[in-house]
Amino acid sequence: MSIPRSVAVLGATGSIGGSTLNVISRHPERFRVAVLTAGRRADALDQLAMRWNPDYVVLAGAANSTAGPGWQGDWRFGSEAMGLAAADPAIPIVVNALVGFAGLESTLAALGAGKQLALANKESLVVGGDLVLEAAATGGGDLIPVDSEHSAILQCLGGRPTSEVHRVILTASGGPFREWPASRFASIRPEDALAHPTWSMGDKITVDSATLANKALEVIEAHLLFGLDFDAIDVVVHPASIVHSMVEFNDGSTVSQLGHPTMEIPIQYALSAPEHLPNEFRSFDPVEASPLEFERLRREDFPMFELGVEAGRSGGTAPAVYNAANEVAVRAFLDGGLGFLGIPDVVETVLSSMPTTPVESLEHLVEVDAEARSRSRESVGTPLATRGDSTP
Ligand code: NAD
Ligand code: MG
Repeated sequence: MSIPRSVAVLGATGSIGGSTLNVISRHPERFRVAVLTAGRRADALDQLAMRWNPDYVVLAGAANSTAGPGWQGDWRFGSEAMGLAAADPAIPIVVNALVGFAGLESTLAALGAGKQLALANKESLVVGGDLVLEAAATGGGDLIPVDSEHSAILQCLGGRPTSEVHRVILTASGGPFREWPASRFASIRPEDALAHPTWSMGDKITVDSATLANKALEVIEAHLLFGLDFDAIDVVVHPASIVHSMVEFNDGSTVSQLGHPTMEIPIQYALSAPEHLPNEFRSFDPVEASPLEFERLRREDFPMFELGVEAGRSGGTAPAVYNAANEVAVRAFLDGGLGFLGIPDVVETVLSSMPTTPVESLEHLVEVDAEARSRSRESVGTPLATRGDSTP
């Protein structure tokens, strides 16, 4: 009997965090929960700690160091404690299910310390770029994507080198506004954007799916993970989210990975790869799933897609600026302080106001992120007309 491998679940109170714990609960012989972290919700972390009794928990974003009322174990506080947990020598597997730029330090720490990193927090890879790949190369860490599309590509590649790949085709659900005419976009409210047709996810990624910023982040993620040129990454809309992506090899043979839309499959694969463990999955019925439909992406109506891919092509600090502006704009949209069309407007304004330079270090990225956030907040507070935009 093998000893279960210890797992640190960063962002345990979120959507991916919860699905990760579901997966682990089915494989107690393989995995044990060693660390749980959350942002601010001490009560939710407390309940998880009572259920899992980990070695310690970290409340990363709390203003004060107050433990939850129930669990009497080892409580730690602050983002530094979370970075230390990501590099804890006693833990071989780290799941990064944090949202946004806040996940970058943990990604770098885990890879630098040679961990198996199951990465849901795509923003950290997109923003960190070569810095993240270098951390994996020097620290010996293993970066395994949790994103369903990239999990699919990893499986479709089957270990073949990128030199044999003609292109990859990422699938996109198209989000809740796939069939809306662009003329209605100005009226979109947060609750419309939060009603995703196929996936139940955290707020930020749900809005990113509605603007297609998420797909742009995923194109950059594929570029970095698999070493593919941007020209070799295509996107197609597939509303049912059954085909999770495809790889077209040089001989025209195209391999795809299919399954019902549940994040538990790619999460489990990121924990067990290359092994496929059993799971309580719903068996795939091709007849029931028929017909599988595909559409072209409406790039012209969703400017966040092109802006993101362009930032990816520019490289250097551009993805960090795009990401920071998007995070601020999405927050403002959810809080009612910015319209749906204001999101690309803010991002474009901030991207064009900041020069793209090579990334020097984590500290450099932290500065760029802070500057882009400050400019984005300023832009959110500026009426559209004074930004030279005549959109009503
Ligand atoms: P979520 O909002 O449901 O959960 C986020 C978790 O991170 C929570 O535990 C929260 O407490 C913690 N957190 C947030 N900000 C923090 C901070 N500043 N410091 C420390 N902890 C913080 O988000 P989610 O939907 O689970 O998404 C997590 C990541 O996975 C995102 O990068 C997202 O793009 C990616 N992802 C999610 C899905 C999905 O189905 N939800 C699918 C693919 C990729
Ligand atoms: Mg995805």
